[in-house]
Amino acid sequence: MIVAELQFECFDNTTVSAVDKGVNGLMEALRYNGQILGREFPIVMGDGVFYVRAVCPEEESLHPDNHSDYVNVCIKALSEASLLSPKIRLVGRDLNSEEAAEQEAPNWQVLYTTYVHTCSPLRSGETLLPIPLYRNPATLNGDHKAVIKWQTEWQACDELQMAGGCKAEHAALAEITQIDSDLFRRGWDIRGRIEYLTQIPTYYYLYRVGGKGLKEERERRCPKCDGEWLLDNPLHDVFYFKCDKCRIVSNISWDQLK
Ligand SMILES: [Zn+2]
Repeated sequence: MIVAELQFECFDNTTVSAVDKGVNGLMEALRYNGQILGREFPIVMGDGVFYVRAVCPEEESLHPDNHSDYVNVCIKALSEASLLSPKIRLVGRDLNSEEAAEQEAPNWQVLYTTYVHTCSPLRSGETLLPIPLYRNPATLNGDHKAVIKWQTEWQACDELQMAGGCKAEHAALAEITQIDSDLFRRGWDIRGRIEYLTQIPTYYYLYRVGGKGLKEERERRCPKCDGEWLLDNPLHDVFYFKCDKCRIVSNISWDQLK
């Protein structure tokens, strides 16, 4: 991932609240299009210039070719705050985050995230590297907001169940492990939409934890069609199960692999 700095120059007198509204509106639009990652974007004031740093999937993420209509609307609206379109400066590579997947379309892909990942939840099935969302046609309503919202909620549930310290843990776990949960239904539908748009088989990752033992785990069947789905060899040390009919992958309960 790449750290970029967006520089917003004022062409006239303005107010902090107008700048705040204009810049944050644009950052939200970029985030919902997968062009910037994460959720916090500090704005630093200089002499007639405002600076914002963000992590991008790749060097060309902020190129206008990748903008959604919503991003373009937000850039136009900057003039209301007396701001010019931002200049982009690439600061350098973020050593903390993963590379983006290669440009070539993978044979298959998977919707997979965890609470520690800020990158795109759409990953190449071949390398498990994140695929920047703006590379694909808009998922719904002009951008990829539906995917980002799903990811944010999935991560919140993952964080709650990993921490395991409150009464919401059980409900959060159900959302990421059960096929009758709201998060599954939404994520699985998004998966289908991405598959339709990209014409690439797209899978949904169903989290698995608990279980009685390794033998019982391996005998687990696809929760949607009850078919066999155990793989001979796990993929990327994460996916032990894969149902090609239902487009679901899953792990063997980590509790039983210790
Ligand atoms: Zn199945």
